[in-house]
Amino acid sequence: MLQPSLYADVLLPLSLPALYTYKIPENYRKRIKPGMRVSVQFGPKRIYSSLVKEVHTRKPVSHASKDILSILDESPVVLDIQFRFWEWIASYYLCAEGEVMKAALPAGFKLESESKIYPDPDFQNLDSLSNDELRIFRSIENEVVSIREITKRKDIKNSVTLINQLILKKAIIVEEKLLERYRPKFATYIKLNPEVSEIELNDILDGMTRAPKQRDLIMSFLERSNAFSDSGILEVERAGFLKKSSGSIAALNALIKKGVLETYQKEVGRLSSPEDTQVGDLKKLTPSQLSSLGMIHDCFTPNDVALLYGVTSSGKTEIYMHLIQEQIKQGKQVLYLLPEIALTTQIIKRLQHVFGSSVGVYHSRLNDPERVEIWLNVLHKKEKSTYKIILGARSSLFLPFSNLGLIIVDEEHENTYKQHDPAPRYHARDSAIILARMHSAKVLLGTATPSFESYYNARSGKFGFIEIQERYEKLQLPEIIIANLKEAYRKRIMRSHFTPQLMSAIEEALEKNEQVLLFQNRRGFSPFIECDNCKSIPMCKHCAVSLTYHKDINRLVCHYCGYGYDNPGNCSNCGSQMVKTRGFGTEMIEDEIGIHFPDIRVARMDLDTTRRKRSYEKIINDFEGNRIQVLVGTQMISKGLDFKNVYLVGILNADNMLNFPDFRAWERSFQLMSQVSGRAGRTKKRGKVIIQTSNPEHPVIRDVIHNDYDHMFRAQLMDRKSFSYPPYSRLIRISLKHYDIKKLDQASGELAESLRKVLMIGILGPEAPIISRIQRKYIKVILIKIEKGKQHSKSKDRVMKVVKEWSKNPINRPVQLSIDVDPM
Ligand code: ADP
Ligand code: ZN
Ligand code: ZN
Repeated sequence: MLQPSLYADVLLPLSLPALYTYKIPENYRKRIKPGMRVSVQFGPKRIYSSLVKEVHTRKPVSHASKDILSILDESPVVLDIQFRFWEWIASYYLCAEGEVMKAALPAGFKLESESKIYPDPDFQNLDSLSNDELRIFRSIENEVVSIREITKRKDIKNSVTLINQLILKKAIIVEEKLLERYRPKFATYIKLNPEVSEIELNDILDGMTRAPKQRDLIMSFLERSNAFSDSGILEVERAGFLKKSSGSIAALNALIKKGVLETYQKEVGRLSSPEDTQVGDLKKLTPSQLSSLGMIHDCFTPNDVALLYGVTSSGKTEIYMHLIQEQIKQGKQVLYLLPEIALTTQIIKRLQHVFGSSVGVYHSRLNDPERVEIWLNVLHKKEKSTYKIILGARSSLFLPFSNLGLIIVDEEHENTYKQHDPAPRYHARDSAIILARMHSAKVLLGTATPSFESYYNARSGKFGFIEIQERYEKLQLPEIIIANLKEAYRKRIMRSHFTPQLMSAIEEALEKNEQVLLFQNRRGFSPFIECDNCKSIPMCKHCAVSLTYHKDINRLVCHYCGYGYDNPGNCSNCGSQMVKTRGFGTEMIEDEIGIHFPDIRVARMDLDTTRRKRSYEKIINDFEGNRIQVLVGTQMISKGLDFKNVYLVGILNADNMLNFPDFRAWERSFQLMSQVSGRAGRTKKRGKVIIQTSNPEHPVIRDVIHNDYDHMFRAQLMDRKSFSYPPYSRLIRISLKHYDIKKLDQASGELAESLRKVLMIGILGPEAPIISRIQRKYIKVILIKIEKGKQHSKSKDRVMKVVKEWSKNPINRPVQLSIDVDPM
């Protein structure tokens, strides 16, 4: 009986508005399932790895569908619940599902023409091939080549179609590239020969008086492995064991030869070396922490989301760990989100101490095989999946969870949770709430300085709300001292960029062997240099910004496009040697500390010093180990780090944060200053914070001194309401870019006008942003305010309709347009 043809709707990793339908060849119909990757031809030449979203029998009416070239997976790698999550992200953040797929799948899953092809050894029927097909067939007989290599060849036309036909005729085989990229890693372990009994072993040991090294080795092995004890045998990894016990390989090999010990191979993760995972107990919570834990449970009955608002060092992390353990006992998965990779270094240690190897870490700095490994680990059901807890940055939301019980969003106020570029421009906190709902899981947002949005939601009853005002061990919050910059400059008592207050506090701290954190929210040596003679400032050739001076490489660099050149040392306009640095960044502060305190070690943590993979860890470890006395950094040092010996924090200039032209500037300044302050005095005695500012009476500075978030919130909320900013509205920002300012003006003006026609109110712009030109393209921004309570998704539909109409006009087509929903 003839069966109806099967079709698959597939998702391509591209910015396409729809799914594409391909025909499933007969030999694949039994194997193919949604969630598997298949290779397909898209466009005249390219082969992509795409994802099957649906298998059906509906023949497409409008066009003939091409065949799927090959199936790349044995079983699905993406779950149905993930497809639904991607759909939500695409529709909420106004982007294509393919773009979400691209962000979600580890690069190791991508194929993009890298698949290898070679002749099928069983294929005999050469006569059935056309001349062109035969040419391809012959050309791959002696070497395995990738599809990409074939498509590049000029002497063969329509090679993709030909390859396709060869696959269908079963003449050639396509091999998945992933197999090569992803290889599991193995480690060697040692165990006792199971044939040897405890009594025999004692005899052997007694007879080893003349081989003390072997004897010692066995003794320390027995200790490490817990052999013959009731509390369970521990696995012993060879390399780590030899290092720790300072045993020799010769002794080990002798024991293996004698049949006392044996080795075996075991697949291990690439990420945590098994020998340094130690299993300890959870810390006992204090009465106030316990009551907060109870309140979180209470909140979770009516609410799915709760905000834990606890001062820095109140033990939020300890409370998370108790919640995690409860989830694990119920067999649930936990996702622990952090805004910054730098933070994982410290938290991973705390988690592994209690949860051992069931903690996995996932973020963008891992390499392809590592990411694939974690993905597959989370995907595997029960026995095979070893990670119960995933600690990660925002992209870990996309892992194939099947059984989430809890998502913790630590430092929920951080704007690094928002992806800026490219699409999907999603906010990890808000997306986590949706993901949790799909799993019937709970979400805990934790912070010492809530975002306005979350605080507003908690105060209005939408989220549960728990507040901890007490630091662990009733430690006082640091004393905050304001140092008046204006006055110090006027009195000429500044020493480089340090007020006398800050300078003497640093001296005092160093004398007592305490460590110091210095915060400056700008990297590089100076944000610009200026000629004293003609006042000209070197600017970027491609962007509307000054070039930042970096002293260590002696270059002027653009922070937006990377353009730069070696510092010529004189003015390129008039030739004068009188070129001065203006303003200051972290590099200059590091330099000045080095000059004032030549005997101490100073280090810097910012984007420039943390580009390499393990550099965060190194700086943090060196600081923890007291090998660095003063650490200078950007906002990277403000987030959740827990250093035991820091009692002094200096904020070098609060003014540029406060004066930043953005409606969130005050909220952010408060958060930043409070967070940096929270790094001081986390153990034993009270810490000290010195804030340098030209505006000591600024209301935000006063709120920081009194740690009065609520006051700052209420004051700012009135402004937000009168100007209809979040949380009273939702924003959509449309950015338009083009090389030609006239064309851009025309196109952006037209779009704003059409938007005004359908939405009537709440359209600002087009306006040039602060940096009006980047990488030679001019930028214009249109901001759309959608009032809360109005049908949000309907307004979005209207916006998209206008954008679609607008982009149909051929004049507008070269203008690059991007949409950011809830911009930060
Ligand atoms: P937060 O996350 O609120 O900033 P942490 O959980 O990092 O606070 O706690 C601050 C410090 O106090 C950490 O070093 C932590 O180990 C310690 N601490 C907090 N609560 C306890 C507790 N109940 N028992 C022992 N140590 C604790
Ligand atoms: Zn000059
Ligand atoms: Zn530039």
